[in-house]
Amino acid sequence: MRIAFFSAKSYDRDSFDLFLKGSGHEIMYFEAKLDKHTVYLAEGYSAVCAFVNDQIDATILKKLDQLKIKLIALRCAGYNQIDLETAASLGICVVRVPAYSPEAVAEHAFALILTLSRKTHKAYNRVRENNFSLEGLTGINIHGKTIGVIGTGAIGKAFCRIAKGFGCKILAFDIAESEEMKELGVHYLPLDEVLSRSHIISLHCPLTPETRHLINSKTISKMIDGVALINTSRGALVDTKAVIRALKNHKIGYLGIDVYEQEEHIFFKNLLEEIMQDEQIARLMTFPNVLVTGHQAFLTKEALEQIAKITLTNITAFERGEKLINEIKAS
Ligand code: NAD
Repeated sequence: MRIAFFSAKSYDRDSFDLFLKGSGHEIMYFEAKLDKHTVYLAEGYSAVCAFVNDQIDATILKKLDQLKIKLIALRCAGYNQIDLETAASLGICVVRVPAYSPEAVAEHAFALILTLSRKTHKAYNRVRENNFSLEGLTGINIHGKTIGVIGTGAIGKAFCRIAKGFGCKILAFDIAESEEMKELGVHYLPLDEVLSRSHIISLHCPLTPETRHLINSKTISKMIDGVALINTSRGALVDTKAVIRALKNHKIGYLGIDVYEQEEHIFFKNLLEEIMQDEQIARLMTFPNVLVTGHQAFLTKEALEQIAKITLTNITAFERGEKLINEIKAS
């Protein structure tokens, strides 16, 4: 198939080119994000390959339909960015990569926890200026703490296994409990109890109408004073304004985020020469106890290779009319 590949980065090309040879497919890499200005680039192609911040709403889908696009291959797990009902009504098939390396994301969540709890982000800068003072670097042990995990799917499970190794007590909330996690020692509780009993809360559920702003003023008020909040899932799980208020009044002890509500305007771009227009992210980055990474939790060599392999397999299966194990449909 001829594939129009949007939001292409050098690391995408490297991993897809590795598996493209012999696949019979042809890819045109477009650096541009898919939106109303760039959708016309898909003319002459039969499939679109898109990522987390590509715009795939009803307007774009109708344009893609006019351009005779029959397949949208998402090269990510989350699919909140696509209007599945409109895609179905237009007969456009949507596939995704449900799991590529859950460990990559879970390990990144732990990287955020460890950095913030031991202040290595501060230490890194300090010693580079020959300042070896330890003043202000007192950390907090992870061992013995209670970790609350919201969503124990592929990534949540990998996260729980790491937490277990650290000697944490693990509480979890999920609409579908896992027997495997119970055997590991994870205790499932109602959401409010998980929030009110955890020293560290890590979000691993998808963004849905039910989970949007799951973390808000009301839910934050139930948390332990000085709670640590980690979000590597989707930005809009968190009401950023409420989190900023909670950081200002010390309710939240530290915040590690790899995703952000308005990230589509900022992430995956080098804005070095620009004036930051987003007041909330600018405010977040003024806090010494906040660590922001730009949606890089998935970004490991192993994960990228799996993403490329599975995406191309999905496209081949579609072309051959085979059963699509990774198809997503409106529920
Ligand atoms: P998954 O589908 O395997 O697991 C999601 C879990 O959340 C499931 O167990 C499901 O039952 C649970 N869930 C659904 N609705 C819920 C609710 N209302 N409350 C509590 N739990 C609920 O997905 P996954 O592979 O573990 O990925 C989780 C999320 O991580 C994705 O949806 C995606 O948004 C995000 N993600 C981020 C990155 C990154 O680079 N930062 C990479 C991959 C995935």
